[in-house]
Amino acid sequence: MRFGGAETGAAGARGVGSLANQRVWGWGRQPVGETELRRPERLRDLYAAVSGEGTALARGLGRSYGDASFNSAGTTILMERIDRYVDFDPSAGVVECEAGVTIDDLVRHFVPRGFFPPVVPGTKHVTMGGAIASDIHGKNHHKDGSLARHLLDFELLTASGDIVTCSRDENPDLFWATLGGMGLTGVVTTLRMQMTPVASAYVEVDIDRAPDLDRTLELFHESDENYRYSVAWVDGLAGGRSLGRSILMRGNPAPSGDGRGLDVKRRKERSVPKIFPAALLNRTSVKAFNTLYYRRHPRQARGAVQHYEPFFFPLDAARDWNRLYGKRGFTQYQCVLPYEGGRDGLARILEFVRRETRGSFLTVLKRFGPGEADSPLSFPMPGYTLAMDIPWRGAALESALERIDAIVIELGGRVYLTKDARLSAESLRAMYDRLDEWLAVKRRVDPESRFVSDLGQRLGLVA
Ligand SMILES: Cc1cc2nc3c(=O)[nH]c(=O)nc-3n(C[C@H](O)[C@H](O)[C@H](O)COP(=O)(O)OP(=O)(O)OC[C@H]3O[C@@H](n4cnc5c(N)ncnc54)[C@H](O)[C@@H]3O)c2cc1C
Repeated sequence: MRFGGAETGAAGARGVGSLANQRVWGWGRQPVGETELRRPERLRDLYAAVSGEGTALARGLGRSYGDASFNSAGTTILMERIDRYVDFDPSAGVVECEAGVTIDDLVRHFVPRGFFPPVVPGTKHVTMGGAIASDIHGKNHHKDGSLARHLLDFELLTASGDIVTCSRDENPDLFWATLGGMGLTGVVTTLRMQMTPVASAYVEVDIDRAPDLDRTLELFHESDENYRYSVAWVDGLAGGRSLGRSILMRGNPAPSGDGRGLDVKRRKERSVPKIFPAALLNRTSVKAFNTLYYRRHPRQARGAVQHYEPFFFPLDAARDWNRLYGKRGFTQYQCVLPYEGGRDGLARILEFVRRETRGSFLTVLKRFGPGEADSPLSFPMPGYTLAMDIPWRGAALESALERIDAIVIELGGRVYLTKDARLSAESLRAMYDRLDEWLAVKRRVDPESRFVSDLGQRLGLVA
């Protein structure tokens, strides 16, 4: 039987199935942990799973890249079966559901009813619990903020065994510490969220090809406000005058009509073989692909109509694409740099990664609007966010990434914890200046550190 990113033997089919000593990992396939896996079938089983001895952590679909989603020191609780809908108010567009409901579920159920989730990441295979714990952002952050802005409230199962309602008015410090709190304040059991009304399942997309970083940023600043969704694919292997060359893909929700309805398209997701020869994905092959991809796009195209599926979730076309990186896996380095100094910081980082690592095989650049001022660990802040997928290379890569951390810290930026597998506790402190506020909430609601993850231990988030 397969549990998300963990390969295991059979778990009990009913109630709290439990398997000891299971190897688990995140989307980057490294690092690998070992944990007891439990998979409750319903909420009452979840309470039982958390109420035992030892430490625990909730896990969604394991789409965080590093060690955020498992607890080698104890139990990891799979939330995938805690996925029931509780209520939907069509007049207000408010959905209430359990935390194991995924973005995929939401899209399939609500697009035909004229609603879309307010924030979606680059894959639809994430649970709402995982989305809250990371306070996810989407291509619309510059307009609509992160998930926090659209959540009405959620219920949190805390270390004391109590279920606590968290909202802006009720237990607000716990509400804000859980958003971005990487599962370490408790287990989100249910939530209420404002959905976004849509007239169709389509997006009207404009394409711009930018020959270098300056033009990419110029286009962002000139015209991003005209678009609800904005993202740039960057050729991470191009250097010299082409450093930062990109394809900007920006769009707005399409009106209905002309054959555009509220249809859900189920693409067949192809699987990458379990044993994929990682050597096929290398700097030369990716460089050739990037050049083709860049040139294949017109300098400018306007108003192409695209279904939401390829626009928001292009990578989901291949289900296990993380296997392309082979056994050693990869890491994603995602940082945000404030606008001031951001342009030079981006140039330095892109050039450094190109020269000092095997290179970033997939590079994405976005702009953030205002962050959530009340949330100590939420990642977004106004600025540029750069995400780079880099093949894992052990200590050599770790020390290269530490040098990028230094640039990020110098410019007042930060790294996204849900993508992280190697940041140090010292660098975390230098990046998140309200860390002590978060730690104070953690100590109050979980004085004995019952909620633990490998990431939490590495970063000093648990005692
Ligand atoms: C291809 C790809 C593209 C992505 N694009 C984006 C993007 O554009 N924007 C973005 O913000 N993120 C993006 N992500 C990251 C992803 O959205 C987050 O890592 C998300 O948290 C994954 O959800 P999950 O259900 O898989 O959670 P997991 O990876 O299983 O867990 C992530 C964290 O959530 C916690 N958690 C899970 N369930 C609960 C719960 N019920 N209660 C409390 N804590 C819980 C875990 O303890 C862990 O700390 C992307 C990931 C991939 C693989």
